Amino acid sequence: MLKKIFLLLILSATFILSQPVESLNSSEIKIALKRLNTVGTVLYVAAHPDDENTAFLSYFNYAKHLRTGYFSFTRGDGGQNLIGDEQGDLLGVIRTQELLQARNIDGAEQFFARAVDFGYSKTPEETLTKWGKKEMLSDIVWVIRKFKPDIVVNRFPTTGQGTHGHHTASAILSVEAFNMAGDPNSFPEQLKYVETWQPKRIFWNAWTPALSSMGIDPDTLIRINLGEYNNLLGRSYTEISAESRTMHKSQGFGSSGRRENLYNYFFQIEDRTAQNDLFEGIDLSWGRVKESEKVSKLLKQAEAEFDFENPVKVLPLLIEAYIELQKLEDKYWVEIKSAELIKVIKSCAGIWAEAVTEENLLSPGSEVNVNAGFVVRSEVPVTLKSINIDYQQSDSTLNSKLIKGEMISIKRKISVPPNAKYSQPYWLEKGNHKDIYIVKDQTLIGQPKTDYPLYATFTVDFSGSEINFKVPVFYRRNDPVEGEVYKRVEIVPEVVVNFDKDLYLLKNGEVKELTVFVKSIKGKLSGKLKLLSEEGWNISPVFYEFSFTGQGQEQEFKFKINSTNNNLSANLKTELDIDGKKLTKSLVTISYPHIQPQTVLPEASAKILKLDLQKNPVNKIAYIMGSGDKMPDLLWDLGFSVDVFTKEPLTTELLQNYDVVIAGIRAYNTYQRLTTDQKNILKYVENGGTFIVQYNTTGDLIANPSPYKLTISRDRVTEEDSPVSIINPNHPLMNYPFKITQTDFEGWIQERGLYFPSEWEENFVPLLEMNDKGEIPKSGSLLFTKYGRGNFIYTGLSFFRQLPAGVEGAYKLFINLLSAGIDE
Ligand SMILES: [Zn+2]
Repeated sequence: MLKKIFLLLILSATFILSQPVESLNSSEIKIALKRLNTVGTVLYVAAHPDDENTAFLSYFNYAKHLRTGYFSFTRGDGGQNLIGDEQGDLLGVIRTQELLQARNIDGAEQFFARAVDFGYSKTPEETLTKWGKKEMLSDIVWVIRKFKPDIVVNRFPTTGQGTHGHHTASAILSVEAFNMAGDPNSFPEQLKYVETWQPKRIFWNAWTPALSSMGIDPDTLIRINLGEYNNLLGRSYTEISAESRTMHKSQGFGSSGRRENLYNYFFQIEDRTAQNDLFEGIDLSWGRVKESEKVSKLLKQAEAEFDFENPVKVLPLLIEAYIELQKLEDKYWVEIKSAELIKVIKSCAGIWAEAVTEENLLSPGSEVNVNAGFVVRSEVPVTLKSINIDYQQSDSTLNSKLIKGEMISIKRKISVPPNAKYSQPYWLEKGNHKDIYIVKDQTLIGQPKTDYPLYATFTVDFSGSEINFKVPVFYRRNDPVEGEVYKRVEIVPEVVVNFDKDLYLLKNGEVKELTVFVKSIKGKLSGKLKLLSEEGWNISPVFYEFSFTGQGQEQEFKFKINSTNNNLSANLKTELDIDGKKLTKSLVTISYPHIQPQTVLPEASAKILKLDLQKNPVNKIAYIMGSGDKMPDLLWDLGFSVDVFTKEPLTTELLQNYDVVIAGIRAYNTYQRLTTDQKNILKYVENGGTFIVQYNTTGDLIANPSPYKLTISRDRVTEEDSPVSIINPNHPLMNYPFKITQTDFEGWIQERGLYFPSEWEENFVPLLEMNDKGEIPKSGSLLFTKYGRGNFIYTGLSFFRQLPAGVEGAYKLFINLLSAGIDE
C-alpha cells in the first residue's frame, strides 16, 4: 500500500501528486515548518529509474529539509517488464510513474532528460553518439538553471566503474553541465526563460569497492550516515528509502528497510573546498534571500510556537509570512516557499478543497459537470470568495463565510474548448523517435509528466489576506473494495481506434483477417473507418460506416488483407472520418495498483509481415517458458501449434509429441523442473528431437542446458547494426527453408544478442560471427550440434526482441532453426 507522506512542492507546473493532497499531520507539519526555515537545494544525477540512492534523497529531504531532486537521463524504457506486457515507450510511462510514486515517499522531485533507454551500452561514447551529447548537455544545463542546486551529486564516476555506458555518460554530462550552467555563452537560447546558475560543488556518491579499485582511501572523503532515525516520522531514512525503492515494481526492486547505520562516501569532483560537510560554507537560511528578514522572523516564530495539538494557533503567522513572501524579489524562492506555505496553511486550518467530475475521459468540445467543494475543519474566520473552474460556463463568486465543518459545494458545467490539447505524456506526442524523445517546447524539458488539463482555483479571505488554493480536477468514484478512487481527467480524441494486434504475420497465399475496434469518447456521432496500407496489398472492405448513440460505446470491424506480389511487409494505419475531421489516434490505458492509471495516445498502427513460405516446415512446438516473452503467440500466429509449459514436468514421452522443443529466455534460470527434467530433454534430442535454447544468464543456472560442454559468458553485442559474418554459409541452418544473407541482419532492434557462450566443445558448429565496434569478433551467438539422432541449438541472439518487432530476417533465421530436423 502506498502511504501518502507529505508533498513539499506544489508548483503550478510541476505538481507531484497523484490525487488530491491529503492534509499533513502534526509531525509532518513540524517537518514542513523546518523546511520553510531552510533555503537550499541538492540535485542527484544518474541514468535510469532505480539508479537513484533513495536513502540519500530521503535524508536530504527529511533530515536536512532541502529541496531535493533526482535527474534521470532516461525513463527506463529499454528494460524488461516484470509486471506486464508493456515494452519500450509504454514501459517508460510505467517507470516514470513508479519514480513519481517513489518521490512521493522520499519527498524528492523528479526530472528527466529526453534520452531514450536504448538498452545496454558498453561505452559512454556509444551512448553519447546515440543520445546526442549536445542535446543531453542542454537538458541537464536547463534543469540545473531551473532547479538551481547548491550542490550536484552524481551516482556514478566519470571513469567507468559504473559499467554501463549510460551510467558513465550520466556522470560525464553532469560534470560538463556543472561547468556550463553558469556560463551565459552555453545554450544562450535558454536564457529567454531562465537565468544562468552556478552550483557550488559537485560530488560522486562513491561506493567502497570502486574507491579501492581507484586507490582512494574512503577515510579521506566526506562521510554521511544515511541510516539515521527520524522521531517525527518514526522511521529511519533507510526505511523510507526501502519503501521508495519498492515502488520500482516493474523491475522487481521490492526492498526491505535497513535499521542500522549506513555510511555513504562523497568524492568531490571539482575543487576541494569542503572538508566535513557537502554544504560547508553555503548559507542554507533565509539570509541568502534579499530583504527576507520579516518572512524569516515569522517562519521561525511559527516553528518555535507550533503546538502539536493545536496547529491552527500558528495560522496567523503563516498567513502573514505568505503575504510578506509575495513582496520579495527572488522569484525562485517566492515560488518554492509559497507552494510549501500553502500546503502548511491548508493543513493547519484543516482545509479540504476538491473539484471532481463524473467522467475521466473528456474530448475537445465536450461538456461536463464539475463539483467543487471547500470545507475548513478548524475555528478560523474564513470567507470563500470564489471558485474558478477552468472553462466554467458561469461565474462562481460566493463571498460565503465558512462555518467549521460545513462544506460549501457548487456544481458547474464546463465546456472543453474544441481546440483543447490532448493530455498524453508530452514526450510521446510526436511519436517516431529514435534514441531521443522529440520535445519541441523547451519549457517542458525536464518535467516528469504532462500537467493536468483542468484546475479549480479557490480564492479564500483570511481576515483581509487573500490566498488562492489551486487543485487539479479529478475523476472520482467509490469502489466497493478499494473505497475512494481518483483518476486523472484526460482530454482525448472524440473517437479512438485500436488494432487487435501490433503485428500480423502471414504466409504466401494466405488471407489475414484483422480486427479494429472503434470507441466513442464523446457520445453520439457517426463516420467512416478506413484501413490504409502501402501499395500492393488488397484490403476489403474498402471502408465501414459506423455510428454511436452514446459515450463509451465500442464496435469491432473485421478487414481481410492479402498480397499477391512480393510485398513482404507493410505498415497499416487507420483513418476515422467524422464530418471531414480525420482522426488517427488509438487509446492505450495502463493500469496497475501502485501507479496512477495512464492514458497514452499513439497513432493507430500495426505492421504486417509476409514470409515467403508456402507451408510451415514443422508443426508441433513445445515452449518451455522462462522469464516471459511473446514468442509463443507469434509462432502461433504463423500457424504453428504451440503448447506452453510454465512449471509442468517435462517427460521424454510428453516431449516426443513435438517436432521442436524451445526453451524461452532465461528458462534455465527460472524453470525449476529443469533440475530433474534436463535428462528427459536430452533423451528427447537423442531420439531425434530438435531443441533450441535461448539466452540464459550465468549466475543462477538451474541445470546445464547442453549435452556437451558449453560455457555461457557475459559476452554481448549491443550494437543492433553491428556487421554479421555468416561463417558457415553452407550449413543447413543458413539455407533451409530460407537462404540467410547479410540483408537478414538489417533492421534489427536494440541489440544483436546477449550472454553468448565463450567456449564450447568441438561438436558444436558456430554459425555467425559479430562484434561491437573496437572489440574482437565473437562466434558464440548461434551454436549447433547433432546429439544422438537429434539437434541441439544454443542461441543468445535476441529473437525475443526481433520477432515482436516484426524483423523479417530474424523470422527467417528462427524458422530455419525450427527446421533443423527436416531432411530437405
Ligand atoms: Zn542504471
